[in-house]
Amino acid sequence: MYDVNSKHAEEFISHEEILDTLAYADENKDNIKLVESLIEKAKLRKGLSHREASVLLACDNSEMNEKIFKLAEQIKKDFYGNRIVMFAPLYLSNYCVNGCTYCPYHSKNKHIARKQLTQEEIRKEVIALQDMGHKRLALEAGEDPVRNTMDYYLESINTIYSIKHRNGAIRRVNINIAATTVDNYRLLKEAGIGTYILFQETYHKESYLKLHPTGPKHNYDYHTEAMDRAMEGGIDDVGIGVLFGLDKYRYEFAGLLMHAEHLEAAFGVGPHTISVPRLRDADDIDSSSFTNGISDDIFAKIVACIRIAVPYTGMIMSTRESKETRERVLHLGVSQISGASKTSVGGYSSPEPEEENSSQFEVADNRTLDEVVRWLMEMDYIPSFCTACYRAGRTGDRFMSLCKSGQIQNCCHPNALMTLEEYLMDYASPETKAIGDKLIEREILNVPNEKARATVIENLNLIRKNQGRDFRF
Ligand code: SAM
Repeated sequence: MYDVNSKHAEEFISHEEILDTLAYADENKDNIKLVESLIEKAKLRKGLSHREASVLLACDNSEMNEKIFKLAEQIKKDFYGNRIVMFAPLYLSNYCVNGCTYCPYHSKNKHIARKQLTQEEIRKEVIALQDMGHKRLALEAGEDPVRNTMDYYLESINTIYSIKHRNGAIRRVNINIAATTVDNYRLLKEAGIGTYILFQETYHKESYLKLHPTGPKHNYDYHTEAMDRAMEGGIDDVGIGVLFGLDKYRYEFAGLLMHAEHLEAAFGVGPHTISVPRLRDADDIDSSSFTNGISDDIFAKIVACIRIAVPYTGMIMSTRESKETRERVLHLGVSQISGASKTSVGGYSSPEPEEENSSQFEVADNRTLDEVVRWLMEMDYIPSFCTACYRAGRTGDRFMSLCKSGQIQNCCHPNALMTLEEYLMDYASPETKAIGDKLIEREILNVPNEKARATVIENLNLIRKNQGRDFRF
């Protein structure tokens, strides 16, 4: 039974509905008239249903695909301009009691070095991240109810927000930890988290149960209903995603959109972000032994179809992707990327000896943040370190209504310029700074009205004058 409003995982992610959707997409993928009408509908920028978007994903007509990519690019420009929000993951602990077959944290892995950061070690990591220029973190941890307790997370969040080193400050802490209770979600909200992120890994229940054979994560329903509990606990920015490579991508794509539709129907606000991670090699994980890996072409098509289907939902691409892949898909709809990421526990402040590897997976983009920022600006993107929406309480439906009306541009563009200026003053190499100064001068002209432009110029001059100032919006 399929019921978008139901609180039960098996009803809002109905296996039958996904199979029907895939059959409908197969029947119609060569129906050019329908595909064209869906592209026209998507041009209204109100999104598409999981069925409609699945037809576009399945379509392999090159002329239609060109139109799909072009529209995705245009929607990305309309909603997000040329801004790319920057963040970094911070791994707190890789202790884990689960048995996930694709993740090196699985409890049978005796080879990986197990670590959990103390508050003092967190301080060191955060100072190293602040010294690069990061303002936004995503906390990561395995699931271990004895070691990685809610008290540990709350204390860690508190520690992170309290560290003010030179001009640095972490202004938004997102968190990607195991599914938990409504009460715990409430505590996370009270501790000031930004987005609660949890990847479904796969929406295919039968595969899910095999891929998560042991541990609390084995419970498909509890995991799939986590975002409902998070929202009940008051967290209105949630981030969903699947790990592409575990099951068939078209199944996952339909599931992702059905999950988004469910959250929108049940809580009036869809997910804040969708992540598109692909499976990577890791300590004792060989990604090639998983048979559902997707090519770069398909990856690009997925990104474009997500952008068209949910125009106002941010999209995150991590350093699991190489510079080349990032370059290829950024313009198709990605709004946030990580830079200079370490997936080891403690890896920012002290490089790990090889025999002590604690990493979750191999990153494909090993550049420094300065290099990533420069590269973005060379392609005419504005790297943004802005966290203003979160700080001003523009989360959940307040954020979405601004975003859907297109008004968010008026906040984001000036704020992106000002936070980029802060970054350039405080952290950039001379070469990056020179490129950034020119970019900012050009971009000031794109601030929509004269009054706002004058305010931005005034603020930029203030930042330039008061190098020591920690700018807050
Ligand atoms: N314990 C949390 C949970 O239960 O979801 C934590 C998240 S884990 C630190 C972050 C994500 O890394 C996982 O949700 C998974 O999708 C991803 N991941 C695990 N193994 C991976 C691999 N070999 N390659 C790429 N991503 C992986």
